Amino acid sequence: MDQPSLKAVLGQAQAFFASKGLRFTKQREAVTTLIFRTHEHFRPEELCERLRKSDSSASRATIYRTILHLVESGMLREISLGGGERLYDPNFLQSPHHNHLICVDCREIVEFEDPNLDIMQNCITRRMGFSPTEKALRIEGRCDRLRLLGTCKNMKSGKPKKRIGSKRV
Ligand SMILES: [Zn+2]
Ligand SMILES: [Zn+2]
Repeated sequence: MDQPSLKAVLGQAQAFFASKGLRFTKQREAVTTLIFRTHEHFRPEELCERLRKSDSSASRATIYRTILHLVESGMLREISLGGGERLYDPNFLQSPHHNHLICVDCREIVEFEDPNLDIMQNCITRRMGFSPTEKALRIEGRCDRLRLLGTCKNMKSGKPKKRIGSKRV
């Protein structure tokens, strides 16, 4: 994300915290910046790790609470990978209708959007008498790279990579 939009994001976060009667402290700002500076999906533990490497003094509790506030504000989305595994996704602000392909072998996540899918989802929800508040499709599968080549950069020595990055298509 480039600088002006990060600034806009911080403004939006600040406005949300203010609406809750909370101060947008330096620590909360550092956590928010770290989340929205990249497009990476992350686990809270990974964010703690990233923050430790920065010079912020935000505590674990601040990190976890800030994540919850940002989810409540609608700026950050929680995505379930199945099996109780949860990630947080900062990319819905820019592309509110994106979906995920998740590789069950290397845990890579690929984001995709498709106007035909939107049309189909709208048809289905209308037909079923629903007004959708959230539409997200999660497809689990095996990436071609690993299937065809038997190896994958996301997998180290046969073990799934810990951090899950994101790629836009
Ligand atoms: Zn995403
Ligand atoms: Zn894979």
